[in-house]
Amino acid sequence: MKKFLIKTLGCKTNQVESALIAEKLTKSGYEETDDIKQADFYILNSCSVTHIADSKNLAYLRRAKRENERIKTVITGCMAQLEKDNLIKQNIADFVIGNYEKNDIGTILENGTKYSVSDIFSHDEFRYEKLYEAHRTRASVKIQDGCDNRCTYCTIPFARGKNRSNPQKNIIEQINIFAKEGYYETVLTGIHIGQWGMDFKEKKTLKNLLEEVEKTDIRRYRLGSLNPLELDNDFIDFLAKSEKFCPHFHLSLQSMCDKTLKAMNRKYTANQIKDLVNYINFKFKNAFIGSDIIAGFPNETEEDFNITAENLSNTGLSRIHVFPYSRRKGTIADKMPNQIDNTEKKHRVSTIQKISDKKIKEFLNKNINTQNEVIIEKRRDSKTGLLKGVTKNYINVLINADDSYKDTIQTILIKDFSSAKEKMIAEIIKE
Ligand code: SF4
Repeated sequence: MKKFLIKTLGCKTNQVESALIAEKLTKSGYEETDDIKQADFYILNSCSVTHIADSKNLAYLRRAKRENERIKTVITGCMAQLEKDNLIKQNIADFVIGNYEKNDIGTILENGTKYSVSDIFSHDEFRYEKLYEAHRTRASVKIQDGCDNRCTYCTIPFARGKNRSNPQKNIIEQINIFAKEGYYETVLTGIHIGQWGMDFKEKKTLKNLLEEVEKTDIRRYRLGSLNPLELDNDFIDFLAKSEKFCPHFHLSLQSMCDKTLKAMNRKYTANQIKDLVNYINFKFKNAFIGSDIIAGFPNETEEDFNITAENLSNTGLSRIHVFPYSRRKGTIADKMPNQIDNTEKKHRVSTIQKISDKKIKEFLNKNINTQNEVIIEKRRDSKTGLLKGVTKNYINVLINADDSYKDTIQTILIKDFSSAKEKMIAEIIKE
C-alpha cells in the first residue's frame, strides 16, 4: 500500500482541500502517514500570499527529499498555480498540480502526469465533493473559491480564478453531514466568502445562505474573513438575532488611511470601518472583532501611517493581525514608486503590534467573570496539560477537568488570565 504525507500551508480553504485530498486518497487505497521516512508521496498544499510563503514552500520540498531521497514530491496549491513555469523549469518537484486539479491528485499520481495546471480563469463551476472527516474540532466548509476584486497588492485572484460559489444545497448537505458526524461547529470559509452567490443567475448574498444554515442540524457556525463592504447593518441585525452564529468577526481592513486604501483599490474609507465596528459593538455585547492590516504599503508616508495607527487605536477592534507589505511580482503595487524599506516596515509592524497587544488585553479582561459556551477539544494543551477549547466569541480557554469532558460542549465561567499568552483560565459550570 502506497503511503502519503500531506503538508498544508496557508488558509482554511487550503486546509479543507487537504482534508478532501487525504480522504479521497485513503478511499482509493493509499495510507496517510505523518512519518516522512515511511511516505512514498510528499504532498505540499502550498500558499503563495507573500514571498516568504514561497520560500517556505521550497524549503519544505527540499527537506522532504533530504529526509527521504526515494520520496516523490508533489506541489499543489497557489504557488503551483502561480509559479508553474519556474517550478517545472527548475524541476523543484516531481509533480506540479494546479488549484483546480488538486481534487484529482489520486488519478494524476496513478497515471504519472508530472504537470497538471490548467488556466484557472477557464473554470466557471465550483468543484464540490462531500467530506466526512474534517481533521479538526471545528469543521470548515468551503462555500466559495476565487475572487473578482483586484486589490493592487494581491496575486490571489490569479491563483484562484474568478468568484465561483458552491451551490446552497451542497453547503447545507455538507453542514448536515458534519453535524451527523458529531461536529458541533462549522466554519464557512473560502477565498472571498462575501462574494458568495454573486455569480448565480439569480444573485444571492451570504445572508441568504445563512438564513438556510440556521435551519441545519449544526449547533453553531463561524464566518471566515470578511471585506467590510459585505457587512451592512441589516446583515449585522440578522447575525445579532442568531442563536447559532459565533460572535466573531474577522475583517480584512488592510489600512485605516483613506489615501492608502485608495492606492490598494479597497473601495471603502476609514470612517466606514469605524461606523461598522461601532455598530457591531452596539449590537453585540462581547463580539470578538479581529482584523488584518498591511504596514509599509508603497507610498505610505509617515503621516499616512500615523493616520492608520491613530484610527486603529480609536476603533473598537479586539485584535489586529499586522503584516509587512510583501512585493508580489505582476501586481500593480509592485511597480509603484516609493517602496518602503524593510527597517521602516519592521518599525511600523511593531507599532501596530503594540496597539493590538493593548486591545486584546482589554478584550480578554472585559470577559473575566462572563459565561460562555466552549467546545472542549480532544487533545490537551501541550504546555499546561489542561483541557483546551475556544468560546463562541473566539477566546482560547484552559480548563482543569478530567478526560470525560473531552470532545464535549460545555458552559464555562472565565476566571482569569493564564500564564499562556492570550489564553484564559476557565471552569465548567455544572448544570
Ligand atoms: S479581495 Fe483583494 S486581497 Fe482579497 S483575495 Fe481578492 S484581490 Fe486578494
